[in-house]
Amino acid sequence: MASAAVEAGSAPIRPTFDFEKHARFFRHFLHHLPAAVEGFDSNRQMLLYFCLSGLDVIGALEKVITVEEANQIIEWMLACQITELPFRSPILPKLLASKPELNRALINDQVVSHCGFRPGPWLGHPFVPHANAPMHEFDTGHIAMTYSALCVLQILTTAHYQPQQAAAGTATTAPGGDVTHQAHSPLVGRPLRELVDAGAICRGVRALQLENGSFRGTCFPSESDMRFVFCACAIASMLGDWSCVDIDRATDFIVRSQAFDGGFAQEPGLEAHGGSTYCAVAALYLMGRLNRIGDRERLVQWLLARQVSGFQGRVNKDPDSCYSWWIGGALHMLGAADQVDARMLVSFIECCQNHDLGGFSKHPDTQPDVLHGYFSLAGIALYGPLMEDGGYPLRALDPALGITTRAAESLPRVLPPSS
Ligand SMILES: [Zn+2]
Repeated sequence: MASAAVEAGSAPIRPTFDFEKHARFFRHFLHHLPAAVEGFDSNRQMLLYFCLSGLDVIGALEKVITVEEANQIIEWMLACQITELPFRSPILPKLLASKPELNRALINDQVVSHCGFRPGPWLGHPFVPHANAPMHEFDTGHIAMTYSALCVLQILTTAHYQPQQAAAGTATTAPGGDVTHQAHSPLVGRPLRELVDAGAICRGVRALQLENGSFRGTCFPSESDMRFVFCACAIASMLGDWSCVDIDRATDFIVRSQAFDGGFAQEPGLEAHGGSTYCAVAALYLMGRLNRIGDRERLVQWLLARQVSGFQGRVNKDPDSCYSWWIGGALHMLGAADQVDARMLVSFIECCQNHDLGGFSKHPDTQPDVLHGYFSLAGIALYGPLMEDGGYPLRALDPALGITTRAAESLPRVLPPSS
């Protein structure tokens, strides 16, 4: 529908955003989790990712996060890493005693499958830096948390702090709540692969791939679908090690999940969905296999047909600000972003902006949250520059990895070997 300004014959009003208020919103959620969303406490890495990448997109990361805080967050994150080493003493003797039929090689496979990043300290672990805390047999990484953790570490280690900022920073309690000491080690500036146990992460991810090519979230019986295929490919790309993905099986799973209408489902035979379509396209993009999509034009048309002002996630659904990223990012990777009505999309995102608290909500006039806050900013970063009167002062985003191009530029980004 045309706006009143357009009907009156004047130029359309340019959507406006209060980015300073959005920076304060993300800063607030680094330290506080409202009671209404305390169920997300088991996803702290992901919440951190939304907040920190949101600050990076706005260009406010170094302004509102001191270098001491950045070091503390990195230390906290590293303490959530599960590697093979601490597992060996408490777990192997116990497993060998309880299951004598298992040989050491099989048990090692079990141990490896736990590796990655756990969702937070909610399993009762004390804070011990650098992943050397004792662990128990139910302690396991989650592939989505591992992806989020690598994003957070890459964002913070590539932040550009000036020497005087480092000197003037003040110590505060870090996100996570249970880090109360001052970080001393200069972790900001260190390459990602120096900080994490990349080998353990890759072996852990590899252990999660199923025969049908998809990935489980954890080593225990759990969901397996397109979300985790994307996570595996993003982890492999960020670490520059594709040994964690059987490329052919993953590609086959994705290709078989394209629905009759062109979009991708979470697995073969299900309904196409914006989120799973993003994950499928991004995984193929990272593997250098976009040319394996069976009906690319039908896919592009399905994606474009999701714009009803903002993007909807599925046919006959209301527009939702987070699909600015899921649908909008997929169209970017497919080279079809210029076919989107960028002004209409950005205007919808503006309607989801919370003028009191900052942040963005799923639909206009509902409560803001960090997921929709981040993906709304992502939509503005992707499509603002395509508006006829130009973009906004936001950093560009890497549409496949979900972090700014500034954060991503030092990653190896190697393609898997062709087969
Ligand atoms: Zn949403």
